[in-house]
Amino acid sequence: MRSIAFVAAASLALVGCKKKDEAKPTGGGTGSQPAATAACKGGEVKGPIAWFEDDYPAALACAKASGRPLVVDMWAPWCHTCLSMSATVLVDASLAPLADRFVWVGLDTDRETRTQGMDRNMLGLYETLRKAKNGRAVARLDRGNCLGCNVTLPTNMVSRVRQADFLVQCPRCERILVAG
Ligand SMILES: [Zn+2]
Repeated sequence: MRSIAFVAAASLALVGCKKKDEAKPTGGGTGSQPAATAACKGGEVKGPIAWFEDDYPAALACAKASGRPLVVDMWAPWCHTCLSMSATVLVDASLAPLADRFVWVGLDTDRETRTQGMDRNMLGLYETLRKAKNGRAVARLDRGNCLGCNVTLPTNMVSRVRQADFLVQCPRCERILVAG
């Protein structure tokens, strides 16, 4: 009985806090709704959760603006447990009730090593597209069609993709094209 009474008191306390928050003037302050919405844009949706991928500063800004704690998933491509976690546990529908209570960021701990020596402009383009296209910066070509948006590409563009001498983007969805 005592614990039930405590839960009831805690719920009331939360309701009380909420009402107080709602009475505050909005805009400008930490945790205000428009600031949080602006800072939390651009997560990659996987299962029930929108993830910030390899962008710790953006995730931290979102956490500060929305007043939510940050969950950091530090992983590496060689870590089979990490890959299994992200393929099964972290996409499980049972996490849905937690999705909006935290800010989620995935950090590839080997990324710096693997991207050393790569063209920074190309890497920048890849990162921009990945954010804009919900994690899918690259699209495969299948019989002249971009599998990112299903547009049929002109034959000269298809042959340029097959030559793979330089980077070709889909004229419609802008994804980087790779030969199928
Ligand atoms: Zn396309």
